[in-house]
Amino acid sequence: MPKKVETIVLHDSSTPVLGDIQKGGNIVVTSLDTLLNQARANSLWPLTFGLACCAIEMMSTAASRFDLARFGSEAFRATPRQADVMIIAGRLSKKMAPVLRQIYDQMPEPKWVISMGACASSGGVYNNYAIVQGADQVVPVDVYVPGCPPSPDALIYAVIKLQEKIKRRKFNKIIEINARTLETDMPEEVHA
Ligand code: SF4
Repeated sequence: MPKKVETIVLHDSSTPVLGDIQKGGNIVVTSLDTLLNQARANSLWPLTFGLACCAIEMMSTAASRFDLARFGSEAFRATPRQADVMIIAGRLSKKMAPVLRQIYDQMPEPKWVISMGACASSGGVYNNYAIVQGADQVVPVDVYVPGCPPSPDALIYAVIKLQEKIKRRKFNKIIEINARTLETDMPEEVHA
């Protein structure tokens, strides 16, 4: 029976040991899950997208005082096709909801959502006909940030929580499902 070979990468002893990667001389052995999770979690690219006052706090996180770059997430992208995390910063009006959903759909998988502030998470003080009472009615939310407005530190904490969540991801199931979908989608001549 063939042996299952997992990823082996060279390890410089001066490099910090990441996640559950085991240290052993100058090599480490780890799973593909861990490797992909580490890469994805430490290079989240947020979408440049603000809805209201919370967006000012979001912008501060990327500036020198708070320096989101320390967590690998300073590269705010102006197109959803290059972003993997949407930060909903501000109240979401019912008129804006379909636009938000469309932008979310244009982001490539895997993607995540942070709901920033009381308004985005629950409508906040705007309990009226014009505001969506929680962004999770429109897109799936991974992390909620409380407060009005939440401080930049709170948003950074949310990014750290999201990183922890991504590091726990298991890909086996996802890859299996995708492979099965590809198989059924393939034209017959290619499949044969
Ligand atoms: S939570 Fe406060 S700061 Fe954020 S959008 Fe609502 S009113 Fe503005």
